[in-house]
Amino acid sequence: MTEPTRALPLVLTPPKGRGKPPRHLADLDATERKAAAADLGEPVFRVKQVAHHYFARLERDPAQMTDLPAASRDRIAGALLPDLLDQVRVMEADGGTTRKTLWRLFDGSLVESVLMRYPDRATICVSSQAGCGMACPFCATGQGGLQRNMSTAEIIDQVVDGAAAMAKGLVPGGPGRLSNVVFMGMGEPMANYKAVIGAVRRMVAPAPDGLGLSARNITVSTVGLVPRMKQLATEGIPVTLALSLHAPDDELRNELVPINTRFSVAEVVEAAWEYAKVTKRRVSIEYAMMRDINDQAWRADMLADVLNSYGDWGWVHVNLIPLNPTPGSKWTASRPEDEREFVRRLVARGIPTTVRDTRGSDIDGACGQLAAADA
Ligand code: SF4
Repeated sequence: MTEPTRALPLVLTPPKGRGKPPRHLADLDATERKAAAADLGEPVFRVKQVAHHYFARLERDPAQMTDLPAASRDRIAGALLPDLLDQVRVMEADGGTTRKTLWRLFDGSLVESVLMRYPDRATICVSSQAGCGMACPFCATGQGGLQRNMSTAEIIDQVVDGAAAMAKGLVPGGPGRLSNVVFMGMGEPMANYKAVIGAVRRMVAPAPDGLGLSARNITVSTVGLVPRMKQLATEGIPVTLALSLHAPDDELRNELVPINTRFSVAEVVEAAWEYAKVTKRRVSIEYAMMRDINDQAWRADMLADVLNSYGDWGWVHVNLIPLNPTPGSKWTASRPEDEREFVRRLVARGIPTTVRDTRGSDIDGACGQLAAADA
């Protein structure tokens, strides 16, 4: 699920049929790491050394891995840490505390990640697919269609890059630690379930097997692929689930989120509620505020009623997402007074509600626009 944006005329050329991304250390579980060591003709501890550099030191440069034998350093590191992300462009906003990076993958696909530093945390928003097949009409990424699923390592490498930028003090505020990951870049994470859950496992595993992040600080979003939401609840990793609802009624949601014709509002909200029940994690309902489309006061009441029908035990909160103002577009930002009334009505019905800050709106902060501009 990406942040919503104005619909841009996109020409993304799908670079299909060029094979899989190179296999990377972050793709491997413990057994596969052993096999990789054997393939390299090296003892298992060499792989562990590389894992320590990558996950704990956030180091990808073989020259800096001085505990590896000089003669075989490049060969070992090259085999385990192939370059996956080629940086095309970095754009900064909010005084440098928002950094949006456009990446070219091995096959030419373009994806992006956004690092956002706040006083109390640093969050990276990652992509999980190149393009997206969900075809939400208000989303630039959705207009280009799906190019391909990203690999676990392609997802993790975005996080490692953000963590390294924080550790090296590249973001104003001095050296710091990446604390949060949100899957709200390009793509529908639940449509690339295996790679996404693999990436989540690497994120929460303690170093040197992973990045040692807290599951509570990882948010996986979805437009509502119900079977996968149910599966996620059984993984035993209590990540935060964000359901991109955008409308409380099937008639409008069928238009805004076409997958709704397969999984209705009632089905996706029930799956979200089940997730909260099983994991004891409060679910976030994402709702992009679109002027005169889904921001009417009566829809706020309807949204509250839908959510409250599952009880008011604090299982849910609503996160309203302001669209970028796009004069003349059908998809534009709500009027401030309509937004205020929407919030007021939800809160009056006992629904905790926040309005997302609009980080990076001066750098085409809404997902999909950077890739579109360079395609
Ligand atoms: S088209 Fe895909 S990336 Fe865009 S809003 Fe829909 S699910 Fe998210």
